[in-house]
Amino acid sequence: MDDLQIAKSASLIPPADVAAAMGLDPALLEPYGTDVAKVRLDAVAAMADRPKAKYVIVSAITPTPLGEGKTTTTVGLGQALNRTGRKATIAIRQPSMGPTFGIKGGAAGGGYSQVVPMEKLNLHLTGDFHAVTSAHNMLSAVLDNHLYQGNAAQLAPHSITWRRVLDINERALRNVVTGLGGRMDGIPRESGFDISSASEVMAILALATSLTDLRERLGRIVVGYTGEGKPVTAEDIQGAGAMAVLLKDALMPNLLQTLENTPALVHAGPFGNIAHGNSSVVADQIGIRTGEYLVTEAGFGADMGAERFFNIKCRTSGLAPDAAVVVATVRALKAHSDKYTIVAGKPLPEELLTENPDDVRAGAANLRKQVENMRRHGVSPVVAINAFPTDFDSEHRAIAEIAEELGARSAVCTHFADGGAGATDLADAVAEAAAEPSEFRLLYPDEMPLREKIETVAREIYGADGVDYTGPAAKQLDSYEANGFGTLPVCIAKTHLSISSDPTLKGAPTGWRLPVREVRASVGAGFVYPICGDMRTMPGLGANPAAHRIDIDENGETVGLF
Ligand code: ADP
Ligand code: MG
Repeated sequence: MDDLQIAKSASLIPPADVAAAMGLDPALLEPYGTDVAKVRLDAVAAMADRPKAKYVIVSAITPTPLGEGKTTTTVGLGQALNRTGRKATIAIRQPSMGPTFGIKGGAAGGGYSQVVPMEKLNLHLTGDFHAVTSAHNMLSAVLDNHLYQGNAAQLAPHSITWRRVLDINERALRNVVTGLGGRMDGIPRESGFDISSASEVMAILALATSLTDLRERLGRIVVGYTGEGKPVTAEDIQGAGAMAVLLKDALMPNLLQTLENTPALVHAGPFGNIAHGNSSVVADQIGIRTGEYLVTEAGFGADMGAERFFNIKCRTSGLAPDAAVVVATVRALKAHSDKYTIVAGKPLPEELLTENPDDVRAGAANLRKQVENMRRHGVSPVVAINAFPTDFDSEHRAIAEIAEELGARSAVCTHFADGGAGATDLADAVAEAAAEPSEFRLLYPDEMPLREKIETVAREIYGADGVDYTGPAAKQLDSYEANGFGTLPVCIAKTHLSISSDPTLKGAPTGWRLPVREVRASVGAGFVYPICGDMRTMPGLGANPAAHRIDIDENGETVGLF
């Protein structure tokens, strides 16, 4: 059975029953159809006196292009915690439709550890992404109208950084010219489209702590600069209020469930490279009061997703994690041995699939570094060995030994094949780790200058010898400090396929320097993002995209979505 067939055979319970199991008054739900509900923001205040759950972050070693199973493990762990008599809720991002119709397929977990209904989750869900798209483009329209009506804010047209967004992979829109036509058709200028998940509005939705905070963050968005280099904000051009209205409902998290009826809050989906790649603060503020454990996922490897979870998301929310799961797979560790290259869309190399625990050990450096990085933040690590059917016991033992040498708990888990029953050892290990006193600490204080923040992440988390800035990047940093953005945390946009900034370097490379080409600021979201290497913010479709396979059958059922 493929994932969609498994998902369709699930027996869902009504959202009101899911809410009741979380201790959430069903009156706080806004139903969307029969299987999905939004949770009203009043839930935060209504549940404020309830005990706080243990907060568990699920991250991974540096992945192969296939993904090593963070979402699947987040779901499996949530199910396993409930199965072992502990009350757990999970919180994940909403997938973007770009990748769903592109290369990746759905992002609701996999096998017997999925969030359902998976079709709704992977497609429009409750329209939050459309709201983000509309709010973003509303500001684009207000901005172009501002220029047309005389440009009172004195925006220098070439300094405008605010573009447009769409939730579809569409390379032909990466660079466009707007305002063509006659005098009545606007001011011609170059613009372009990014995917909606790359919108600053998406990052704002994910980081806002309340509706008031959302409104304020929208107002702080910098859309461009005057000739003298003074930032012009969404507030300055009177665009933020309309955006807030468009986003009002989108700020309410979506309540779904897993195949085993574990509560699943699905909310926001900021990009994992130029944004922080974590689900929303609001969902976690609610989820943290709904039981004994809240399990949430951070995008990409732990050097990226978990580092931003700690230093951007937790800094904003004030919540402190109690345990960090690092997902490891045999295939990814073998790839880190530098003997194999895994390419998305191509079969795995034949030799990688033969029994070879030595190759697994040869790739241990990456796992070691990622586990150390969790400890660097004072959070107890647990290694989740996500078992694939092609693995051998000796290879799982090799990973368990590496974890043991690091003094970290580990567990082999088969939740993809067996659902929650396959992750009960992981649930026990996580419960033990979370029971240890939390010593969570941020990597750097707000007041540290931006350059030092970048150097701290590069040296301590990535293992770089230092950071090199291009001339423009250095100037941008100076201007951000001068404009008062220096107290923001940093979100380093680099490849997720290496812990370094070079996607071809495996393991935990040393003796390299982080090259910062350009620095941008998401002032509304609240971070500065240095760009290292090429960063695509609008994907294209491949030669054989999922969009070619996805269809509707004679019974009106979706097929080809997985
Ligand atoms: P991530 O969240 O880290 O990107 P996912 O959980 O989405 O990873 O998993 C990536 C892909 O691998 C998905 O297609 C998922 O169904 C598949 N997958 C994950 N774990 C397993 C497993 N143990 N066995 C087989 N396939 C798996
Ligand atoms: Mg995922």
